Amino acid sequence: MTAIERESMEYDVVIVGAGPAGLAAAIRLKQLDPDLSVVLLEKGSEVGAHILSGAVLDPCGLDALLPDWRGMDAPIRTPVTEDHFYLLGPSGQVRIPNWPMPKLMSNHGNYIVSMANVCRWLATVAEGLGVEVFPGMACSELVLDGDRVVGVVAGEFGREADGTPGPGYEPGMELRGKYVFLAEGVRGSLSKQAIAKYGLSDGHEPQKFGLGMKEIWEIDPARHRPGKVVHTMGWPLGGNAGGGSFLYHAEDNQVLVGFVVHLNYRNPYVFPYMEFQRLKHHPLIADVLAGGKRVAYGARAISEGGWQSIPKLTFPGGALLGCSAGLVNVPRIKGNHNAMLSGIAAAEAAHAAIAAGRAGDELVGYEAAVREGPIARDLKPVRNVKPMWSKWGLWASLGLGGLDMWTRSLTGLGLFGTLKHGKTDAAATGEAKDFAPIDYPKPDGVLSFDRLTNVAFSFTNHEESQPCHLRLRDPSAPIAVNLPKYAEPAQRYCPAGVYEVLRDEEGSNPRFQINFQNCVHCKTCDIKDPSQNIDWTTPQGGDGPNYPNM
Ligand SMILES: Cc1cc2nc3c(=O)[nH]c(=O)nc-3n(C[C@H](O)[C@H](O)[C@H](O)COP(=O)(O)OP(=O)(O)OC[C@H]3O[C@@H](n4cnc5c(N)ncnc54)[C@H](O)[C@@H]3O)c2cc1C
Ligand code: SF4
Repeated sequence: MTAIERESMEYDVVIVGAGPAGLAAAIRLKQLDPDLSVVLLEKGSEVGAHILSGAVLDPCGLDALLPDWRGMDAPIRTPVTEDHFYLLGPSGQVRIPNWPMPKLMSNHGNYIVSMANVCRWLATVAEGLGVEVFPGMACSELVLDGDRVVGVVAGEFGREADGTPGPGYEPGMELRGKYVFLAEGVRGSLSKQAIAKYGLSDGHEPQKFGLGMKEIWEIDPARHRPGKVVHTMGWPLGGNAGGGSFLYHAEDNQVLVGFVVHLNYRNPYVFPYMEFQRLKHHPLIADVLAGGKRVAYGARAISEGGWQSIPKLTFPGGALLGCSAGLVNVPRIKGNHNAMLSGIAAAEAAHAAIAAGRAGDELVGYEAAVREGPIARDLKPVRNVKPMWSKWGLWASLGLGGLDMWTRSLTGLGLFGTLKHGKTDAAATGEAKDFAPIDYPKPDGVLSFDRLTNVAFSFTNHEESQPCHLRLRDPSAPIAVNLPKYAEPAQRYCPAGVYEVLRDEEGSNPRFQINFQNCVHCKTCDIKDPSQNIDWTTPQGGDGPNYPNM
């Protein structure tokens, strides 16, 4: 095969991904030296189109980046006014008072936001400083020079379904930089390659994940309490899986209702999407949504491994930022502040290196800043909550995890050292023969919806004539291995109904179908497939969900 000829452009720093991490890095670079050339590449049709977060924002990252943001017309207008935490049973709830919770769990001083809108606003700030922001540019390959990452390929369009260049084929460009920042968010496709190539996870615990699903509802103004934050645990998951819900009263009579299911569940019959739909029938949630309408839906994985799962952050010529490195504080369900802090730290390290005449080496100063600075102080005290939950269940994680957090925040010393996560989420999946199928109630079309109806509210679009971006390493594995052994869980874990097992009229001849057009880029299949047979790769730039204010 002949090598593809591409034009290339040179920058000081190339940044992949316009989430809070990539945007913070771009802005800090230009603040430090307006003459640095910085390009920010985003696969969504516009900045924000692929951003999905809760979100309650801890503004510490923004305070560090733009200390005057409160006077800058930022879309951050709803301070948290009430903070409630409940344990749910099937028809009732018990409120856990706030006083026994460690201070780090408090949402006082935080804001309910749409991170998609915050990112749109940050992109205007970045552009104002001279950053070249290119949405609709999916970065599909790392460009290497020997062992060093020197750039990325972005903007390849027009391949036929079989992968050959079509009539309108555009080869894309090589965007080359002295340093390349991978700020792709959770389970980034280039980050996954860099982690494997440079062994960045060697010696660290495996990364853990949850699947977060979210709907935006416009509700009856009489039921709306701007600034109110509600978190729940318990029903409907029970012992089937770990996880919990959030309900945030945002501005304009909107509530943001979401559900996170930890992806280390064993029972392959668990159907995370249907668990979310069931949750909305609980009286605590149903009362808020009554008479309202769902206006948007989406899903995205969230990293949950925390401190012990952070891989080595640098490689020759580049670095992992934000949730590409998994910087979420799990009990706080917050990662946006650490994403921004990591972007700032990476920018400062790259600026110092470039000012000293260096290029393409490892930014050791960045690694040190993350492991010794504010991100470490945020993540270290909560490091045992997730492994306790996985090993001993919800009650142990609430009791022992709470005690461990209190002890660490008071004395700096924990009771349990650093607990391990053990298996990957894929390896945690049990065999179907050891579990019974779960009977989920049918959606009622009022509070709960079937998957395909909801996917329409993610405004997802993929050019149909392109190659399927969900690549099976072994095309026979779904039917030959996953179906008999795990009842092919892709049918259930995908929140967009992309994977189906079709049969003929007699119910025989199963075959695996991938409706890639529906993919909302959550990355769950890449994480949870028990055979680790699915590689999520980038489709054409601009394709995917078109989230409004997720
Ligand atoms: C359901 C849910 C609820 C959450 N709630 C909260 C909360 O309340 N508060 C909080 O602080 N955090 C919350 N988080 C976590 C928070 O959203 C993440 O920590 C944060 O988004 C990480 O930022 P990031 O910049 O690293 O990645 P992202 O925000 O994921 O941004 C990455 C960007 O890179 C782009 N991209 C990826 N790959 C490529 C590529 N190859 N080429 C071009 N572009 C690419 C993506 O399209 C995306 O725009 C939540 C997460 C979820 C899923
Ligand atoms: S195909 Fe994979 S990445 Fe796409 S929505 Fe389904 S689980 Fe998520």
